[in-house]
Amino acid sequence: MKEIILVKNGEIALKGLNRSNFEDAMIRNIRRRLKPLGNVQIRKAQSTVFIEPCDDNFDFEQALDRVSRVFGVAAFSRAAVCEKDMADILSRGADWAAERLKGVKTFKVEAKRADKRFPLKSPEISAAMGGAILERCPYLKVDVRNPEVTVVVEVRDFAAYVRAGQESGAGGMPVGTGGRAAILISGGIDSPVAAWMMAKRGIELTAIHFASPPYTGPLALKKVKDLLRQVARYSGPINMATVPFTKIQELIGEKCPEEYFTLIMRRYMMKISSRLARRDHCSALITGESVGQVASQTLPALQVTDAAADMLVLRPLIGMDKEEIVSISRKIDTFDISVLPYEDCCTVFTPRHPRTRPTVEAVDAAAAPLDEQALIDEAVAGTEYELID
Ligand code: ATP
Ligand code: MG
Repeated sequence: MKEIILVKNGEIALKGLNRSNFEDAMIRNIRRRLKPLGNVQIRKAQSTVFIEPCDDNFDFEQALDRVSRVFGVAAFSRAAVCEKDMADILSRGADWAAERLKGVKTFKVEAKRADKRFPLKSPEISAAMGGAILERCPYLKVDVRNPEVTVVVEVRDFAAYVRAGQESGAGGMPVGTGGRAAILISGGIDSPVAAWMMAKRGIELTAIHFASPPYTGPLALKKVKDLLRQVARYSGPINMATVPFTKIQELIGEKCPEEYFTLIMRRYMMKISSRLARRDHCSALITGESVGQVASQTLPALQVTDAAADMLVLRPLIGMDKEEIVSISRKIDTFDISVLPYEDCCTVFTPRHPRTRPTVEAVDAAAAPLDEQALIDEAVAGTEYELID
């Protein structure tokens, strides 16, 4: 039996005149994600997208898994394609639905008749299909209020589609419709979650990572790439910049007062990131900061960090508890990687008594012994890129 994947738009449907652009972006992203699985034909009609495989041995489970991570998709399902003919719907369509209702106790049927020339009305289609399914599975009960599975028969322009239940999609907006921003990615729990959250709002990601070899080793770098690869399953490919940060950190450690180490370092990160992000056509930075989590995330400390960036800084986790962040990181499969025990550059030179109520003036004075411009130029010049997919 011929099968397809049906995809429903979510928030995109509210986009009025821009709707078509948003739908097209979502379709482009679906196409890109499915490409490795073979050729598919994709059509859209009335806030539904139809994905039709061209090959017989198409891996539906893989395809559904991939579609489940495309932002902009509100719901999706596998569906059987029937002729627009009641006999076909009630024989092959009902066989297919019965197969999917194994292990289920209650169901109902809904019919949608987009083609008003179809001879039967929706309630008649539902009743007939309900009867055909009950013939095949007499143990099933119809429950119109709270069924375990709703079987839907949609009569459209070219065919009738039968589906049994649907899965929730990733929601959000299609990546690429919200501009471009750079995630400052560490190996921790927070920054991959922050990246995912902004990709969910349609933002295309690039990434910036500060590495301090030999204090941070190759495994720490691999960990960051592995994290980005998990995020890229949702966001699409991510261009990752790795910034050599050792010299700056060592000089801070040598020449600046200890209680300001972290804040000076964070201001360097913001300044270098602003430069790199602008060069990569980004209009914002993203960090995984959340108020109060560590000494460098008090309001005064955040203000000092923020003032060093010369573009918008998005902090999607700002009001979230660690537990909420962890639960997202489990959902997007970054948690197990994040908790691997490799050093991040932030943990290399940690002051014993960090300042929690700093001012920009005090941090600048503490950083004065360093030749900031030369250090930033050198770090930017030494930055290396790799595409993570
Ligand atoms: P995370 O779990 O993301 O590491 P965190 O709570 O440990 O966050 P910090 O280590 O203070 O907090 O870092 C705050 C934010 O700064 C991170 O969420 C990340 O966006 C950025 N950041 C920290 N270390 C790096 C790094 N080595 N390279 C790039 N960005 C970094
Ligand atoms: Mg960290």
